[in-house]
Amino acid sequence: MKSKIFGLYTAWLIAAVMLVFAVVGRHPYSYYTLLRWVCCTVFVYSAVTSFQLKRVLWAWIFGVQAVLFNPLIQFHFRRDTWQTLDVVSVGCIVIAAVLIAVFVLVTALLSPLVCLAQSPETDPAKLNQQIEQLRRENQLLRSLLTQPQAPAANPAQPTSATAQATSTVAPAGQQQELTHWLTLSSNKRHNSSCRWFKTSKGRPCRADEGIPCKICGG
Ligand SMILES: [Zn+2]
Repeated sequence: MKSKIFGLYTAWLIAAVMLVFAVVGRHPYSYYTLLRWVCCTVFVYSAVTSFQLKRVLWAWIFGVQAVLFNPLIQFHFRRDTWQTLDVVSVGCIVIAAVLIAVFVLVTALLSPLVCLAQSPETDPAKLNQQIEQLRRENQLLRSLLTQPQAPAANPAQPTSATAQATSTVAPAGQQQELTHWLTLSSNKRHNSSCRWFKTSKGRPCRADEGIPCKICGG
């Protein structure tokens, strides 16, 4: 885009200078032939670029000028007519150059605002931070959910008689209640007669946990 605009401005400067010279002075015939070649080339290039940038009106304006200045099938106008055409062509070049400059300037001024408006959704560092936080919270929740399994998995091995007496009372009270089996995937509760009792992936549970199984009654 930048190199395209730079190319356009260079081409326009050359064409405009040559057109101004053609208007203000008298030159040999060869100068006007060169002027036709240069201007036609510049206007064709301008028309194509305008079309690529979806500026259809400008593509037409430059296209007509390219036809008028074409060196192959030459138009023969009077000198004052050519002078008017030259001035109009320089005017078109100046207007187009100013419009592009304004467009580039406005785009440059607006782009920080556009970036500012987009940044909350597109900043990858912030997104990663949020994902990491969610992952940590998820792990915490998982560990909280699976905690009731842990005491049952490694029961305390008391050494002294007094310790045995005190420690067996509390787990026994807990253990007494865990008479059923809770299947984790479906949250269904099964009693010891059920085929799913301790065969499905789950944990021991109380008689009032989860949803009662329809086969065994829970
Ligand atoms: Zn069951």
